[in-house]
Amino acid sequence: MTAYDPDLTRQPNGLMRWLGFGSGNASQNAEVDEAKVDDAALPNTGLDDRRERRRRELLNDISSFLVTHRLEVSGYTLAIAFDIITGANPKLARLIEQRVAKRQPVSLDWLEKSARNCGRGDGSALLDELMGKLESSIEEFSQTTSNARSATTEYNSALQHQVGELERVSKAGVVISELASIAKVMLDRTRDIELEMTRSEMKTKALQDRLEEARREAEMDHLTGLPNRRAFESLLTDELDTAVINSEPLCVAFCDIDHFKRINDTHGHEAGDRVLRTVATTLAKISDDRCHVARHGGEEFVVLFRDKTVDEASAILDKTREAMAARKLVNRATDIPFGTITFSAGIADVFAYPAPRDALKAADDALYAAKHSGRNQVLKASDLDPVQAEAE
Ligand code: GH3
Ligand code: MG
Ligand code: MG
Repeated sequence: MTAYDPDLTRQPNGLMRWLGFGSGNASQNAEVDEAKVDDAALPNTGLDDRRERRRRELLNDISSFLVTHRLEVSGYTLAIAFDIITGANPKLARLIEQRVAKRQPVSLDWLEKSARNCGRGDGSALLDELMGKLESSIEEFSQTTSNARSATTEYNSALQHQVGELERVSKAGVVISELASIAKVMLDRTRDIELEMTRSEMKTKALQDRLEEARREAEMDHLTGLPNRRAFESLLTDELDTAVINSEPLCVAFCDIDHFKRINDTHGHEAGDRVLRTVATTLAKISDDRCHVARHGGEEFVVLFRDKTVDEASAILDKTREAMAARKLVNRATDIPFGTITFSAGIADVFAYPAPRDALKAADDALYAAKHSGRNQVLKASDLDPVQAEAE
C-alpha cells in the first residue's frame, strides 16, 4: 500500500510545454494535451513556418475563447476549447453559439453538462465519410481497370485485323506503317492508363489507411484508452461466435464505480477523470485475448469473459474489486486523499438466457442489486431472487 498512487502522482508538464511555458509543472493531467505536445514539440526546421503560424493562431483562438467566457485555464477547458475551435465537437460549438446569441453565460458548469451530452463524437460521421470516399475511389479504380481492359481489347483487335491484312495484301509497306501508328497510339494510351491506375491504387491505399485509423479511433474511449461501447458490441458478437464454436462458457459483467459523483463534487471533474482512468487501468489488468474490458459509458465498465464459468469469472472480478478497494488514492493536485475507491459489479452467464441482450440486462440487474446491498461487491445474476431481480 502506498501513500501516493503512481497513476495519480505522475506529474505531467506536457501541457505547459505545449503552451510554450518551458517545462512547467502543471498540476492537472490531460492525456489528450500531452499527445499533442509530442507533435508540436518537434524542432522547427524552417519548413514548418505554416504549421507554426497555425499553432499560434490556434493558441490565440483558444485563449480568446477562455478569456471571453471567463473560464479558468485547465486541461479540461483547454481540451473543450480545442475541440470547439478545431471543429472536433461541432455539436457543442453550435450549443455555445446559440447560448452566446441568447446572451447567456458559458460557465464551467454549463460546459461540463453540455460537453457530456454532446460527447466528442464517436467518429461514426468520419467513418461514414471515409467509407463513402473509399467506395467511390474503389469504383473509380475498377472503372479504370475496365477501361484499360476494353482499350487493350479494342487495340488488340485492330492489330489483329491489320496483321490479317498483312498476310493477304501484297502492298505490305502501307499496312506496316498503319500498324506502327496504331501500336504507338496504343502504347501511349496504355501508359496513360497505367499512370491512372497507379494514382488510383495510391489513393485507395491512403484511404484504406485512414479508414483503418478512423475505425480504431471510433472504437476507442479517449479518456481511458479502453475499447468503447461500440467496440464492445462487436467484441460480444465475435466472442459469442467463438464460444459457440468451441463450446466454451461466456460471461458478461457490468462494473460501476461507487459514489463516483462524490469524487467529482469534492475534487472536481478532472480529478474524477483521473480516478476513472485508475479504475480502468486496474480493471484492464485482467484483460487478455479471452477477457475484454471496455468502458460502457460514464463511470461504468463492461467485462466479457470467454472460457470461464460464471463462478470463475466472478472470482477474478472479485479479486480486482478487492485490489481496487485496498488502494489508497490521493489527489495529486491537492494532496487530499480520495479515500477508498470501490466498484460494484453484476455478472451473468450469457448462455443462461435466450439472447445476449437478456444476459446484459441480467448482469445490469445484478449490478443494481449489488448497489442496493451495500456496494463494493460482485453479485451473480443466478444468485438473485427472481422476485428481487424483477424489481430491480
Ligand atoms: P452509485 O454508487 O450509485 O453508482 O453512485 P454514483 O455517484 O457513482 O452514480 P451517479 O450515477 O449518481 O453519478 C455518476 C457520476 O459520474 C455523474 C457523472 O457526472 C459522472 N461522470 C460520468 N462520466 C464521467 C467522466 O467521464 N468523467 C467524470 N469526471 N465524471 C463522469
Ligand atoms: Mg456509480
Ligand atoms: Mg453509473
